Amino acid sequence: MAYDTEKKVALDVALAAAHLCDRVRQEIVPESIEKDDRSPVTVADFGSQAVICQGLGVAFPQDPIVGEEDSADLRSPERAPQLQLVTRYVQGTLPTATPDAVVQWIDRGNAQGGDRFWTLDPIDGTKGFLRGDQYAVALALVEGGEVKVGVLACPALSFGSGEPGLVFVAVRGEGASWMPLKGGDPQPLQVVTGAEADGFRFVESVESGHGDQTRQSAIAQAVGITQASIRMDSQAKYAAVAAGQAALYLRLPSPKTPDYREKIWDHAAGVLIIEEAGGRVTDMLGQPLDFSQGSKLVNNQGVVASNGVIHETVIAALQQG
Ligand code: AMP
Ligand code: MG
Repeated sequence: MAYDTEKKVALDVALAAAHLCDRVRQEIVPESIEKDDRSPVTVADFGSQAVICQGLGVAFPQDPIVGEEDSADLRSPERAPQLQLVTRYVQGTLPTATPDAVVQWIDRGNAQGGDRFWTLDPIDGTKGFLRGDQYAVALALVEGGEVKVGVLACPALSFGSGEPGLVFVAVRGEGASWMPLKGGDPQPLQVVTGAEADGFRFVESVESGHGDQTRQSAIAQAVGITQASIRMDSQAKYAAVAAGQAALYLRLPSPKTPDYREKIWDHAAGVLIIEEAGGRVTDMLGQPLDFSQGSKLVNNQGVVASNGVIHETVIAALQQG
């Protein structure tokens, strides 16, 4: 099968990073929340990027990685204790890690892209991570401007009464699946079908500044979705649509940042997972997302991700106002 090694390596490194983040969340987030200290995000962010870039570097030494973090902040002398802490967490996966190696791994994620590259959000949804809500480790392989492999590890996500901790994976042309983070058989992912929007739900960001919640509700209503939105942090929203828990994910530009351009690592993995689960993803004009322009989706505004069936209706509603 195409991209077999890429899929296996991407899953391995994303799982290792998700476990690291989960450990940080359980061990140091609770006490720092009281002190209003965001440093655990830093520890998990850097630790996750180090583990993933190390693994990708061994398996695919030629592949550039466009990651969210760079180590500049972590290199200053006053940040030495933080770097020690990151290193300690990385050692949970890579026992021989040193502070020097950790900063080098992190900086492997500073590439600009190219014809074939990986894009990484080591923790997507940092606000959810701090609140004890949703967050994701998001990793995707882009080739020729197209996402070919996508992995989303969601340590806090569960379906129904199942245990939290799910991972989602897709390879272009080969479908999408999910499994528990702790291991288990992959289960196929399938968006909700049927044209009856009545029972459908839609998902949007928790953070009001990352979208236009007023317009998002209006558009959902215009296409016949009568229930309130499900608000979730991170690309867990893409997973919810791919798994049929929601029919639509709307991310319209916030009135406060109308010219905002989305970052590729906030979308690449999720887009492929929805497409391979039978859904559709475009910008708010109905154009495909263009992953060939560096770290931002400069040619797109807003994101509409759906089960496919309702997609054209949503785009038409957006064009009407
Ligand atoms: P979410 O968890 O869906 O709210 O999205 C989190 C992501 O929103 C972060 O990774 C940021 O890259 C991104 N973000 C930051 N500012 C904005 C903005 N003004 N509009 C849309 N997304 C944003
Ligand atoms: Mg993000």
